[in-house]
Amino acid sequence: MQKKEQIYEGKAKKVFATDDPELVIVDYKDDATAFNGLKKGTIVGKGIINNRMSNYLMQMLEKAGIPTHFVRELSERETVVRKVQIVPLEVIIRNLSAGSFSKRYGVDEGIRFDEPVIEFSYKNDELGDPLLNTSHALALKLATAAEIQTIRDLALRIDECLKAFWAECGVTLVDFKLEFGRTADGTIILADQISPDTFRLWYSKTGEKLEKDRFRRDLGGVEEAYAEVMKRVNAHDRA
Ligand code: ADP
Ligand code: UDP
Repeated sequence: MQKKEQIYEGKAKKVFATDDPELVIVDYKDDATAFNGLKKGTIVGKGIINNRMSNYLMQMLEKAGIPTHFVRELSERETVVRKVQIVPLEVIIRNLSAGSFSKRYGVDEGIRFDEPVIEFSYKNDELGDPLLNTSHALALKLATAAEIQTIRDLALRIDECLKAFWAECGVTLVDFKLEFGRTADGTIILADQISPDTFRLWYSKTGEKLEKDRFRRDLGGVEEAYAEVMKRVNAHDRA
């Protein structure tokens, strides 16, 4: 597999072409952003943890019948994935209230919902990723009705799998963000990453915040939190 020219550099990853037009290589950086890029910093070792964890979780989802872009881990920061056309929707699934949900609707954090909440925002940095509903997404032709239905179904199945997995690791999956893409033949698959950058986890016993909220809220111990999440995954793997 030959790594060719860089085709994109985002906030957390670089994407490279390969000699196969259907595959790209993602390279995970340690750069961290929050609040749509307004807060910037570095979380040492984050790229390594995100690469490993995303690959681990995507392989787990594949086993549960969820199609993902994962192909092969190349190195501690690099992975070969299927190239897709990203559907410009950030798909957010919430099991408990937190973050922007609590702020927007004026409710406490930590309220457990009877059913998971699914939310879409328009993946558009210039506009600040505005929240939108299915009707808006259809009007803007971001996806077809059938694609949105597939995305919803997959997102809920992914939530079921991840919730159960994290519970076994002693942490509560509060909310997370997914991105989906279309392969050359139009199939919708899970793309991007599932990592401590894109989910909120709280210790089940104490409710203490793990992962990126520590960075967002200047709580300190960010590197330790990422390492702790990875440690729990490794321990689960060995069990
Ligand atoms: P951002 O663009 O939000 O700064 P990243 O730094 O994570 O995000 O950059 C990675 C980019 O690659 C994202 O825009 C993401 O949508 C895109 N991407 C993720 N998976 C794939 C894939 N399989 N094929 C093509 N693009 C992808
Ligand atoms: N999220 C993300 N990327 C974004 C926005 C949100 O990965 O651009 C994730 C975030 O990590 C959290 C969930 O989506 O797990 C819900 O985030 P929320 O809308 O509460 O926004 P935040 O409080 O993170 O700004």
